[in-house]
Amino acid sequence: MSELTLGNRHVVVVGLAQTGIAVAKFCAARGARVTVTDSRPAAALGDGIAKLGGIAALELGGHDSATFTGADLVVTSPGVPDLPEMRAARAAGVEVIAEIELASRFLHPDATLIALTGTNGKSTTTALTGALCDASGRPTFTGGNLGTWPLIDAVDHPANAPGGLIVAEVAGFMLEMCTSFRPKVAACLNITEDHLDRYKTMAVYASMKTRIYKWQTQDDFAIANARCPLTMAGAQASRARNLAFDSRAPVTTGAELSRDRNELVLKLPEAAVPERYPASDLALIGTHNLENSMAGYLAARLAGVAPDAIRRGARAFTPQKHRMERIAELRGVDFFDDSKGTNVAAVAASLSGFPQPVVLIAGGVDKGGSYTPLCRVLAETARGLVLIGAAAPLIREAAEAAGARYPIRDAGDMDDAVAQALSIAQPGDAVVLSPACSSYDMFKNFGARGMAFREAAQRLGARRLDR
Ligand code: ADP
Repeated sequence: MSELTLGNRHVVVVGLAQTGIAVAKFCAARGARVTVTDSRPAAALGDGIAKLGGIAALELGGHDSATFTGADLVVTSPGVPDLPEMRAARAAGVEVIAEIELASRFLHPDATLIALTGTNGKSTTTALTGALCDASGRPTFTGGNLGTWPLIDAVDHPANAPGGLIVAEVAGFMLEMCTSFRPKVAACLNITEDHLDRYKTMAVYASMKTRIYKWQTQDDFAIANARCPLTMAGAQASRARNLAFDSRAPVTTGAELSRDRNELVLKLPEAAVPERYPASDLALIGTHNLENSMAGYLAARLAGVAPDAIRRGARAFTPQKHRMERIAELRGVDFFDDSKGTNVAAVAASLSGFPQPVVLIAGGVDKGGSYTPLCRVLAETARGLVLIGAAAPLIREAAEAAGARYPIRDAGDMDDAVAQALSIAQPGDAVVLSPACSSYDMFKNFGARGMAFREAAQRLGARRLDR
């Protein structure tokens, strides 16, 4: 279904959580007959059914192929895999699309859509870009996969009008189910090993992420990371104007750092002189965050946000929870919650150049990549390593193979992990939870894992420093 009419159509929404509920309500409000289906039974869906408010038929605890093949449109929620029932629907000629694809078809052509993806830094960059846009005074929507508002909620937001700014984090899982998603400004921040349990090869994983550029035209902008050939190749293959950001060397068009690394330097298309922004405006730390910020500044400037608004927005921006947050202190040992560090590249980026010796708490659900890049950084920064969850033996093996000269301990739960980490740490050290794995074997999500870490630190008597 490519027309914007949903009236009297039968729409099947896959996944009954925040996004699925929003899509169901959106379609029902436009006159569609909606069925929501979820593989989980009603008892596992919390208050999801109540939130739907009776506007949709339900098919729970599994999927019925006939419902999919008989639909006019199937809309998937983030994280839902390509199910056999979806393949059957496609074979029967039914369109199967992601929620972001549906949303994008309802966006005003004169609102500016900025979309951001990448293996790491998506949420930070989306939130920062949203803050820069907001500071312009133009109506701004910031959401998508960020966990605040799904993109479908942008359709009825004041930003969905001429001059409005719509900033969306998008995941590869969602781009996989897109067929025409076209941001005015697209950025893929980096592509490193992650989700290989789902995609099997880096080539397939990269091809999903770079779909963010796929439907752009010569009127659009594609931002890529000069240090990441996979993102550059994706941007170059698109028809959009290319811009690169580079944390180590000068660029022709895009963003770079000044020689002393104290300024972000933007070289915009057709601009006579570069624009310079002090890095000290930002509360974010680390080279990876300078890369995120260069991408965010470029995106906002290309969307027409003025330099003074960029500086105001940057100064007002506060980093999000569970991203290398200093949350507690005990006997001269700092505790950092980086529970959102869910893959090897993220943890390696945030620990490299860390100012204190680190006792790292890592482990959880293994995603099929190599731990070697992390062990290389640990060789320089680690005072110790405490392992939790299913991936513990794999990380231990990689650390030992890399010749680890620091103690490696196994912990049964988070309280045990934090206690053991503290016993290894010396005054002036940091205990860092940055697991390099998903959390689902022991926790509901990365947020719950971070909270368990904070509570464990407090139970040991640590002084809280978080907001
Ligand atoms: P995402 O939404 O892509 O998961 P976040 O902005 O939430 O990204 O950051 C997740 C973690 O990834 C952070 O805690 C940090 O450890 C790491 N990180 C952030 N930006 C980058 C980057 N540009 N490159 C590598 N790692 C990064």
